Amino acid sequence: MQFFSREHMKNIFTKPTNYVDTNKGEKYYKSLYEKMRKRLDELKAMKPVREHDIKFEKALDMWELSRRDFLKWVSATTALLMLPPTFEPLVAEAAEVMNRIPIIWINIQDCDGNSEALLRSSAPTVDELILDYLSVEYHETLMAAAGDQAEKCLEDAVRDFKGKYLLFVEGSIPVGMPEAFTIGRHPETGVERVQRLAKDAAAVIAVGSCATFGGIPAAYPNPTGAVGVMDVVKGKPIVNIPACPHNPANSVGVIMHYILTGELPELDSLLRPKFAFGYRIHDNCERRAHFDAGEYVEEWGDEGAKNNFCLYKMGCKGPFTFNNCSIIRYNDGTNWPIGVGRGCIGCAEPDFWDKYATERPLANSDIHPPGLWGVEATVDKVGLGILTATAIGIGIHAVASAVAGKKEETK
Ligand code: SF4
Ligand code: SF4
Repeated sequence: MQFFSREHMKNIFTKPTNYVDTNKGEKYYKSLYEKMRKRLDELKAMKPVREHDIKFEKALDMWELSRRDFLKWVSATTALLMLPPTFEPLVAEAAEVMNRIPIIWINIQDCDGNSEALLRSSAPTVDELILDYLSVEYHETLMAAAGDQAEKCLEDAVRDFKGKYLLFVEGSIPVGMPEAFTIGRHPETGVERVQRLAKDAAAVIAVGSCATFGGIPAAYPNPTGAVGVMDVVKGKPIVNIPACPHNPANSVGVIMHYILTGELPELDSLLRPKFAFGYRIHDNCERRAHFDAGEYVEEWGDEGAKNNFCLYKMGCKGPFTFNNCSIIRYNDGTNWPIGVGRGCIGCAEPDFWDKYATERPLANSDIHPPGLWGVEATVDKVGLGILTATAIGIGIHAVASAVAGKKEETK
């Protein structure tokens, strides 16, 4: 896996994201609405993958979820997909026909953390219901079948849904030591398994940091030669949903997009859906005001920590990390790492373990707190211009305080 060049990083931070086009007019949304309406009607006319499937309404009852809970989820998912509220009825209908899309989920070199994230079972949520309602035809760790019976399920699904199933892959692929992962009575290696199953899939969805970019198995010295799915699968549409673990809301979002449009969502240059990875942790972080004000945690447990100040100096890599966990959070939206006082370690970025998982800011980065003329232009930068001569050598915190003081004086 290649490290990004400095130029590439600079472009990422300076080029505007263009996926949220607030200027898209009525005509665009009207035609999108009609396209989705047609697609849903086609799916509704199809039988569920499993004929004995219960109706969605009944599934809601069984999970003791109210219509109100469901409608709240519909609003959140519509927003996640960056669709206007007028699309909510379509999103609700899409949830009801999710059992028309067959899914095969395989695990290669992994810890099962992404499957675990899907299963978080503190209380039934609509996301869990949706995942339960999906037609997951094969999942190595969740299915009841084992051994030959499980292998038969897989082969039947591949044959019956050729060209139609979504292949979810969890875990990295050990190409440098293929024997590190083998499976089945007629053993096949990880790379053989991914390539064979990808061949007949409609699309491949790599979930988690390992399946997308190699993850922790690919950290130096990468003894198994671990890589992500996109390094071994060619000629197939691939979506990467990184993070350790990935957020189930994002895999549900990709499936919903596929159901609504028959297409994969718009992707960035790393094949990540822009609806989820089009902005940085830092852009929506609840501690961002402290970054801009030059207020930092200086050491664990200090007054800054008690006051929820910015974690940049403690190594937070939120300014370099594209993901939506600062918005949708984890564990049913309860909280997220920065919310509990731990900086982001950039787990949604390639090579995160080697590049970002340290408790110090990146050396030689273009991003600095405002007191050091970082790329984050703020009002403080203007104030700092006046103070440059005296500021040099004072240190980040002192500079920020001086700027704050200057502002006080001018009030
Ligand atoms: S550096 Fe980290 S803690 Fe500070 S505002 Fe950015 S993302 Fe939040
Ligand atoms: S805050 Fe950063 S390290 Fe934590 S889950 Fe989100 S992207 Fe990963």
